[in-house]
Amino acid sequence: MAKQKTGTWEWASRTFNSVAGCQHSCRYCYACAMAVHYRKFDPAKWRSQVLVEKMHERKFRKGREMVMYPSAHDIIPEYLPHHLAFIKKLLEAYPRVLLVTKPHLESIKGICEAFGADRERILFRFTIGSTSDATLSFWEPNAPSFGERLDCLKLAHSLGFGTSVSCEPMLDDRVEDVIQAVSPYVNETIWLGKVNRFKHRLALNGHSDPETLAEADQLIGWQSDANILALYQRLKDNPMIRWKDSIRKVVER
Ligand code: SF4
Repeated sequence: MAKQKTGTWEWASRTFNSVAGCQHSCRYCYACAMAVHYRKFDPAKWRSQVLVEKMHERKFRKGREMVMYPSAHDIIPEYLPHHLAFIKKLLEAYPRVLLVTKPHLESIKGICEAFGADRERILFRFTIGSTSDATLSFWEPNAPSFGERLDCLKLAHSLGFGTSVSCEPMLDDRVEDVIQAVSPYVNETIWLGKVNRFKHRLALNGHSDPETLAEADQLIGWQSDANILALYQRLKDNPMIRWKDSIRKVVER
């Protein structure tokens, strides 16, 4: 039997990054946790971003698959020309590009302006784990507000780009509020996923303070098997919804 794909492998068989570090400083950041675990990286420095210039010199062999950009940083307006140049290279080599981001309006406007002719080859996937700005700013302190992310989705949708949403991780017990708000502007899928190895990642990223751990306990409680099964029952017939491996495991158990 073929092995079930997990993580970003569910979305694309190849991912690319061109920046080290990420200004958004999400407390649960997987990429930061990996850097700390495998490279003894200082998590306090994750917020300082460094362009990986050599990625621009890299020659991509032509491929036939959809590729994903980025997976370990974000598309921050400060480096927009750098990102536009990199996305152009990807579009020259691959038929479709999946852009995964907690979107800034300035960045999405820039991408839509630059690649309007390629709109059918670009699929945006905007990460929106809650409609609450208090929740978003706690877990993702420097990322855009809910309103800005929704405006990005509306813009990309109105211009004919592929639009999808990732609620992974779901950041509260009101994911259906996100689904209701984004659905009119999604022409592809909405992915739902649990928090994964949450406290381990928080510890690696230097967030073991009592407030963060209390919030984490609440979130983990909301994502109990019983609550996830109830969510699955409510949403399983919604054709837009896709379940990440963290939820499929609970359902299949
Ligand atoms: S946006 Fe992504 S890469 Fe950036 S800090 Fe958040 S989780 Fe990490």
